[in-house]
Amino acid sequence: IQAISLLLTFGAVNTIITLFTELRKWVTMVYRNLCKGSKRLIKDLNRAIVVNFIREKGPISRTAIAAYTNLAQPTLTVIINALLDQGIIRENGKGESSGGRRPSLFEFNTHYGFIIGIKIEIDRVLLGLVDLSGKLIARHEETFPLGSTGEQVLKVIRTGLERLPCAGRLLGIGIGASGFIDAQRGVVVFSPVLNWRNVPIAAPLEKQSGVPVLLDNDVNSLTLAEHWYGAGRPYQNFVCVTVGIGIGSGVVIDNNLYRGSACGAGEIGHMMIDPDGPLCACGERGCLETVTADSFLIRAAQEKGIAHSIEDLITAATSGDKCARDIFAMMGKNLGMGVKNIINLLNPQAIILGGERMDASTFFLPAFAHVVRRHSFPDVARELIITKAQLGEEGFLIGAGTLVAQALFEPPLYTGRKPGRDIFYATT
Ligand SMILES: [Zn+2]
Repeated sequence: IQAISLLLTFGAVNTIITLFTELRKWVTMVYRNLCKGSKRLIKDLNRAIVVNFIREKGPISRTAIAAYTNLAQPTLTVIINALLDQGIIRENGKGESSGGRRPSLFEFNTHYGFIIGIKIEIDRVLLGLVDLSGKLIARHEETFPLGSTGEQVLKVIRTGLERLPCAGRLLGIGIGASGFIDAQRGVVVFSPVLNWRNVPIAAPLEKQSGVPVLLDNDVNSLTLAEHWYGAGRPYQNFVCVTVGIGIGSGVVIDNNLYRGSACGAGEIGHMMIDPDGPLCACGERGCLETVTADSFLIRAAQEKGIAHSIEDLITAATSGDKCARDIFAMMGKNLGMGVKNIINLLNPQAIILGGERMDASTFFLPAFAHVVRRHSFPDVARELIITKAQLGEEGFLIGAGTLVAQALFEPPLYTGRKPGRDIFYATT
């Protein structure tokens, strides 16, 4: 019996030793992988910092880049040489000398690759070729019948992509559409304008085109474009409000687009301002949209018997018709009431107004600004900037492209998809 129990104990000790050895091997492996991972991460981050600094400040000298990035000269040289080899940056002239040779200046190659920005509207698809400085190089348009399904519109987009000239490397496709968009999954969750529910757009297009495809709300993409290249450049906190067929907004808080927990943020048009007001397309009553959008202008013009279309109403206002001007003033006042609530809630630095109805801004902007300044808290209103969007209709296409540009240039955070990773980030 003693011999048997001795053998059993020996077996147990042996098992424990084997387990311990395996555990040690595993811990060592995890530790090594972690070290390798963080080295790679540091490399990626350094490279992203250098690319972004040259993109924003170039043409710029190596000394200035080193001073900003705090990178050691040998590390910086490796990064710059790799970026030059890949054609992501290029030399552009010489800077001022501070004694010795004049230093080379580096700039970002904005034609290294191109992005296609797309806007899906109620009965047409707009496509634009955008370079890496946000310049619209070419555009194309395809129409489709009202009430088309997601699949039918995808087919129209494919035709448009074939017809849009793209002479260069395509880095990705960005798409803006109206309604609730799940940007993470690339799905139109609900769009009243298109009458779509749960329509996947990004994945089928990505499969077909072979490049990353990002989808977002159209006003969000416009807001992003205004932030990167337009009227929003000086501000960290602003709200971009669009007026036209619908009333929308994009919210930038601390330099980031605020999408909300279910991508539903910014639906300012459906803020209730009169519970007994007119019925809205969303099913509620008295939404801001019902007293500010094009439908309101047309209804008011018809009731007064002065016009049957927006164009006629604008013509009447332009020729001095008091009644037409009063309708626009009422629309401006109503819009001001809605926006005033947003101002008191968020205290933005600026309100940027855009959208197709800005063609009549002369007639509604004074009433809008008056209401906003008069009814917001005085301290908030005093500093507030009210300004017009700078990029016009093209801003939607540039913005859709900026969705991709933003994903390309932001440092790797290991969340979501990363289009063009291997292009802009260290691969070894
Ligand atoms: Zn509504």
